[in-house]
Amino acid sequence: MTLAGGCRCGAVTYRSTTDLPLAVYACHCQHCQAWSGSSFALHALLPADAFTLEGPLTEYAYEDQGVRSRHHLCATCHTRIYNTTSAAPGLWVLRAGTLHERAALSPVAHIWIQHKQPWLNLPAGIPAWPESPTPEAFAAALSTAGQPASNP
Ligand SMILES: [Zn+2]
Ligand SMILES: [Zn+2]
Repeated sequence: MTLAGGCRCGAVTYRSTTDLPLAVYACHCQHCQAWSGSSFALHALLPADAFTLEGPLTEYAYEDQGVRSRHHLCATCHTRIYNTTSAAPGLWVLRAGTLHERAALSPVAHIWIQHKQPWLNLPAGIPAWPESPTPEAFAAALSTAGQPASNP
């Protein structure tokens, strides 16, 4: 399906120029908790060159343990739309909650669950890792995962 979304205030919108499979995962790390102001963040890894984006962006970049990340936010309302990372060149780490069709997003993997909020019970049978999985294991989980119910 083509994917489309935008920020809280509507100044920034994006859409994919092609049909893309969507596999959403939840990150329970402490960065994501602080950044989202919530218990975890919903992300999707998608090809950067498959998207067009309109509207004013601002950027926050940092380096952590040799990995460089650049986060792209609406310059007006500061909703984070996506980030890029040197650990996954050419991909958007999309904030899946910015998708217009987000009502049925169900994570197909959970990472950094050593920091998972204790009240949160994860469903059985969904791949989960205490920290980051290996790229190979993560790619396998994302690629074999089921698609959202709305996707034929
Ligand atoms: Zn905005
Ligand atoms: Zn995280």
